[in-house]
Amino acid sequence: MRIETRAIHAGDRKKAPPAVPVTTPIYTAASYFYDDMEQLDRVFARTEQGFSYSRYDNPSNHALEELAASLESGHGALACASGMAAIQIALATALEGRPKRILASYALYGATISVLHKVFEPLGVEVEFADMCELAAVPSCGCVLMETMSNPLLRVPPIDRIAEMARAAGAAVIVDNTFATPLLVRPMELGANMVVESATKYLAGHGDVLAGLVVSDAAHYDTLRMLSRAYGPVLGPFECYLTMRGIKTFPLRMERHCENACRVAEWLKRHPRVERVYYPGDPQHPDAATIERLFAPGLRGGMVSFEIKGAGREEVFRMMERLAMIVPATSLGDVHTMMLYPMMSSHREVPPAERDRMGIRENLVRLSVGIEAAEDILADLATALENR
Ligand SMILES: *Cc1c(COP(=O)(O)O)cnc(C)c1O
Repeated sequence: MRIETRAIHAGDRKKAPPAVPVTTPIYTAASYFYDDMEQLDRVFARTEQGFSYSRYDNPSNHALEELAASLESGHGALACASGMAAIQIALATALEGRPKRILASYALYGATISVLHKVFEPLGVEVEFADMCELAAVPSCGCVLMETMSNPLLRVPPIDRIAEMARAAGAAVIVDNTFATPLLVRPMELGANMVVESATKYLAGHGDVLAGLVVSDAAHYDTLRMLSRAYGPVLGPFECYLTMRGIKTFPLRMERHCENACRVAEWLKRHPRVERVYYPGDPQHPDAATIERLFAPGLRGGMVSFEIKGAGREEVFRMMERLAMIVPATSLGDVHTMMLYPMMSSHREVPPAERDRMGIRENLVRLSVGIEAAEDILADLATALENR
């Protein structure tokens, strides 16, 4: 079945006597028992599929995990309490039995860079950063970590080619697919071993739940579940329900996000106050060939970044204060349009010299284009950009 259909049906409607619920209930029970103690013993031994304790497995989590694995073409999945919890356990899984060395894209999400520096390096893991769009070889390491689309400049690395080099080097590949989503790109089909997602963003999509997903191949799945039973980063059943509910409309929403972002990018490109637009659908995008090869036809994501001519922090702040509908808040992928100032939020901790090297300037803002009427998004941008 196609992804739009699987988003609605996968995971749900498990047969449970006396009738089959059309959607998965919220199972709040912390533990489970059976009439037959031998059966509970087999469930604990994992020789029989079943539920014993909710940190190990829970029917609400199980349904969401089946759905996530289906969307990302994986063997199995783990639902985590946040995107960061998902990234952390995916990294730990990848390093199990491999050299304790991570090759990471230098254009990663800010908190992911913090996890590498503040969690993994103090544990003795070596971290090396590289420009994944220019990577010529994968050195000896345990794991390669990258994002489908970088934040906020929206660069797209050749995941398929990097995965091939990583396989030859014996390293596991983890791709953070939060910005692209499985509607646009499915990294597992391009050779990734694990995909992580902040489901907080497009998948859940309504700005009302914090959730993370790890989708894994068969080779890493048992280690992932073993570490999860030990660490216990699991998502609560209510959040599983919200995430699953959100995912049912995610392909539909995502198509509209993409359509609106395309219109906004074209409009911004022609605006006299706009110096430069960063958008993966731009034919002049530095990774245009990779995008054409890896992305679903016609879908280029809902993110657009742009620079305002001659603006500094003051002018950007005043412009953002003039927004009447667009929400000037952090996060992305919600139904409403949001504008973020990377210098203040995502890249606040990055030293100025490093920021310059990354190409993140003082006049840069990032838009997560929502699913409102495009006319209203453009009108709000027009007003905010025109008064000085
Ligand atoms: C938001 C985000 C995360 C972290 O997810 P949380 O759900 O906030 O923990 C990780 N990676 C990317 C690309 C994100 O946008």
